[in-house]
Amino acid sequence: MSAVAQGRPLSKVVIIGLGLIGSSFARGLKKWQLCEQIVGCARSSSTLEQGLALGVVDAVETDLGRAVQGADLVFLSMPIGATEKILSSIAPHLGKNTIVTDAGSVKGCVVEAAKRVFGTVPENFIPGHPIAGSEQSGVAAGKVDLFLHHKVILTPVSGHCPKAVSKVSELWEAMGAEVILMHHDAHDKVLAATSHLPHLLAYSLVDTLAKDDENLEIFRYAAGGFRDFTRIAASDPVMWHDIFLANRAATLEVLDQFTEGLAHIRAAVDTANSQDMLGVFTRAQAAREHFSTILSQRAYLESMSESIKEKQATFILQPGEQVSGTLRVPGDKSISHRSIILGSIAEGETDVEGFLEGEDALATLQAFRDLGVVIEGPHNGRVKVYGVGLKGLKVPPGDLYLGNSGTSMRLLAGLLSAQDFSVTLTGDKSLSKRPMGRVADPLREMGAHITTEQDGSPPLAIKGNPCLFGITYKMPVASAQVKSCLLLAGLYSDSTTVVEPAPTRDHTERMLRGFGVSVDQKGDTVTLQGGQTLKACSIDIPADISSAAFFMVAASIAKDSEILLEHVGINPTRTGIIDILRLMGADISVQNEKQVGGEPVADLVVRSADLKGIDIPERLVPLAIDEFPVLFIAAACAQGVTRLTGAEELRVKESDRIQVMADGLLALGVDAEATPDGIIIQGKGSDQAGVFSGGCVESHGDHRIAMAFSVASLRSRGEIQVANCANVATSFPSFVSQAQKVGLKIVAKDA
Ligand code: NAP
Repeated sequence: MSAVAQGRPLSKVVIIGLGLIGSSFARGLKKWQLCEQIVGCARSSSTLEQGLALGVVDAVETDLGRAVQGADLVFLSMPIGATEKILSSIAPHLGKNTIVTDAGSVKGCVVEAAKRVFGTVPENFIPGHPIAGSEQSGVAAGKVDLFLHHKVILTPVSGHCPKAVSKVSELWEAMGAEVILMHHDAHDKVLAATSHLPHLLAYSLVDTLAKDDENLEIFRYAAGGFRDFTRIAASDPVMWHDIFLANRAATLEVLDQFTEGLAHIRAAVDTANSQDMLGVFTRAQAAREHFSTILSQRAYLESMSESIKEKQATFILQPGEQVSGTLRVPGDKSISHRSIILGSIAEGETDVEGFLEGEDALATLQAFRDLGVVIEGPHNGRVKVYGVGLKGLKVPPGDLYLGNSGTSMRLLAGLLSAQDFSVTLTGDKSLSKRPMGRVADPLREMGAHITTEQDGSPPLAIKGNPCLFGITYKMPVASAQVKSCLLLAGLYSDSTTVVEPAPTRDHTERMLRGFGVSVDQKGDTVTLQGGQTLKACSIDIPADISSAAFFMVAASIAKDSEILLEHVGINPTRTGIIDILRLMGADISVQNEKQVGGEPVADLVVRSADLKGIDIPERLVPLAIDEFPVLFIAAACAQGVTRLTGAEELRVKESDRIQVMADGLLALGVDAEATPDGIIIQGKGSDQAGVFSGGCVESHGDHRIAMAFSVASLRSRGEIQVANCANVATSFPSFVSQAQKVGLKIVAKDA
């Protein structure tokens, strides 16, 4: 059996082209003892001598045919223009099992060269490209760790030998690289945009300036920006000449797109069009800041000042006893979403303060940037939205990715159904499973063209129809998102009426009024006349009562505790948590009530109390829908049984919150029985020292579950570990630090 199949070190590796890449590969092979002998080949004897002197290779050979005889693997790392000639020289001398791979920066031309030489691409020929390097070249420039933490793209063609791919992958991975498989056409397209175009621009800019009569002065004063931007113009000209010739079509395509963009900015500068310039710059700034998250198809985790980073995915909690202090929790998520949406379609500039810089609201913000709205910020909760009016949204450059945010998807579905362009809304894995039929169905009744997956889940492909007609819609399930979606679509119809089976959040109605739109509310019926203009305004977003809820329960269940929660939004459609906790015997006082931008706010003082189990009145369910995970923790600490009914909605939130909470409570030693529309929890009473036994619970990526079980630690006998907590950043990026501040013994750790 060959060394390849057995996974032991290779006997002989031949490296053709002993420059930056070839010599770095050789150094890596040696460091990780991946082969017994390395033979180097290059054009000049000086390179070969240097390679031997530096100990990069064990032997050198000028005759390529002789070099590859008996080789397990041949690595081509010379300029790609030489590939065909070199393959022709080595072809007759390759063994049956010899693997050939390369490092060339363009892959389509390498595959074509192999076809011309061999008739067909041999099964052991595995094209590759390390996405690592520098502007330096030559054997001395190589580095042993050049590929560490970098990607290597392999582009095997159909009929390749899987073992050969595994062996090549193994070598790269042993050097610390991450291997990705891709089709060679896709590779060439991606690299044209991300690597080839920037090199072309750098060469061109330096050349243009160097030709200038004043060039000495220009280069003398060239500072960081110029140096950073043009560093890559110091790269090897022959190598890049070969790359542009080999990847002509893809490079020209992206160059044309860029030229168009440049002409657009030129015109904006020429005509002093601030809106256009700011649009380009703010979109580019946001895209650059969120580069890595965009790449990993996640929303905007990195930008948050106090965020729990993605990798800090497990919360570890030691039993705590007491909490105390003053907190201002982050801005209301629902109101943050709506400030961007309504600000975008208003006439004029809307200033927002207290914006929640959590992933969900940021997903909405980015979506509107993609829809052509200029948005400055967020900077410490401040955002400025340059409204484009009801009809000013533009076709986005691609699908709108809304991360984990159901609110963004449902509200945008309403607004975008009425535009004169088509758009597709997508989300992360969890959002892609959530039901969208509840908004798509009534929107279709209004004349919208929407397609979803067969089960009603995203992506949502929306073909805009600017002539929607008004309907009267009786919502089968109480949902503020559905109501808001229809009201936003209703702005573009004649008259839209929504009838609620139970009261739901009315932030949209309140904010619409703040923007000068008249919204009629009679009992359970909301009516909106379309065609009204929204006028920009200032919005001061209150602290989110859903985030405050975790500390309300914390102070209630922990002994001798008192917490002051400042400037909390107490919109009557959101205060179910206060009502339910009070029914359970909680000690909550509401102080300093005032109105801020149409929304009532107050300071809440919460003190320890002996809670008792209750049957939760169904009328309060929609008013506390997001707070149930932490209310279940309160129920576990209460004396007697707590029963929840009429809350089937909880099963289709970010997770099945009924089942996930029941499982978690059971795992922590609390008797909980999930029912189709609620839960029955046997409270263990406030007089027992440890309600929860401690242990591991799974949040299923649901932020509210993760935070709820963190609060449970205050009445736990042992350590609690909550897995999969990264999504806490969607609604409460500073949760860990705020929880620590009042006394929870919590740390966030890498998974
Ligand atoms: P380099 O430092 O300039 O080295 C090129 C090597 O190839 C030199 O040893 C040169 O020999 C040898 N060579 C040139 N023509 C040859 C021929 N006809 N026959 C045999 N050997 C020949 O180049 P590099 O940066 O390592 O790039 C090598 C390959 O990797 C290129 O295909 C490039 O597209 C790809 N790549 C480069 C980077 C990067 O950042 N540099 C990144 C990823 C991939 P002499 O020294 O004797 O002239």
